[in-house]
Amino acid sequence: MPQDSFGREINYLRISLTDHCNLRCVYCMPLRGLTFVPGDEVLTASEIEQVAKAAAKVGFNKIRLTGGEPLLRKDAVEIVDRLQKIEGITDLGMTTNAILLPDLAQPLFDAGLRRINIHIDTLDPARLKRVMRFGTFEQIWSGIEAADEAGFAPIKLNSVVVRDYNEEDVVDLARLALERNWHVRFIELMPLGGGECARLSLSQYVPNPETKERIETELGQLREIPPTSPSDESRNFRFGQGAGVVGFISPVSDPYCGTCNRMRLTADGKFHLCLLNDHEVDLKPALRNGGGGKAIGDLLAQAVAQKPTGHRLDEGVSTQRRAMFQIGG
Ligand code: SAM
Ligand code: SF4
Repeated sequence: MPQDSFGREINYLRISLTDHCNLRCVYCMPLRGLTFVPGDEVLTASEIEQVAKAAAKVGFNKIRLTGGEPLLRKDAVEIVDRLQKIEGITDLGMTTNAILLPDLAQPLFDAGLRRINIHIDTLDPARLKRVMRFGTFEQIWSGIEAADEAGFAPIKLNSVVVRDYNEEDVVDLARLALERNWHVRFIELMPLGGGECARLSLSQYVPNPETKERIETELGQLREIPPTSPSDESRNFRFGQGAGVVGFISPVSDPYCGTCNRMRLTADGKFHLCLLNDHEVDLKPALRNGGGGKAIGDLLAQAVAQKPTGHRLDEGVSTQRRAMFQIGG
């Protein structure tokens, strides 16, 4: 397994399939001034497969497909099919806003996808419209039900907590983990991209200890579950009688950089070395000029070696050149 210069074992590749999205969450994607990667610069299914094969060869075993919205790719099911066949990849997941899952949940499951994380910020239709902007609660809920029916288990729901938008709604979301065998996880806002989304992420930030307290006040005490893996970014809890799990992902109030095991690949073929920094290693010339698996493997090793030790949000430093939809979370 590749180790970075701080001894961290990097075995998890997050692949962004596209920087387009059918939603416009207030902290992720601005409404105006958007520019997208030109179509011919986006990695093809075959190029993504080449990178995944090279990664598996050096010891990566976990891949997550993300975006933008990964299901906007017409070949999303084909990509799942190609990647799940790669020897050494034992854990293939996807993060999606679920809008297209009513049609795609079953084909994705049949192609071999087993892990799905669905992003929903509130169960209140009016407030969901305000925070996620283009989608509706009904669409996302239908997508969650489709994933459940297709056999994905456990379903993981991710909610970003935003002051004055949905911070009260964490209670209704957490209640789902009392009733269902789902994982409901709360994510702290991170300021990426330097624009209006970054500014909102700073001004509307809610620390997860506050969210946890709000949930416990309404629904009872949460008991921590020992982590199954040191690199799990979520601290997980259960209610005494709960069927599911409540998780807290706290990159700002409780950074987990010391156990980071991730490398990220952008839709335009760059290894992005740390979510909250600008460092990148460009892979596309090697992919497009016939460098082959060895050249890709060498660049991946270079990217792992150059991974920064951690983020510097407390010094006001974050990724400037890309917003979240251009990296994938
Ligand atoms: N479109 C898919 C989705 O929303 O799940 C996948 C891509 S989205 C960029 C991945 C994750 O990033 C989502 O769970 C989203 O909530 C989270 N995210 C986006 N912007 C964020 C921000 N500024 N701070 C924290 N999380 C953010
Ligand atoms: Fe789209 Fe996901 Fe960003 Fe929302 S968080 S705008 S769904 S990419």
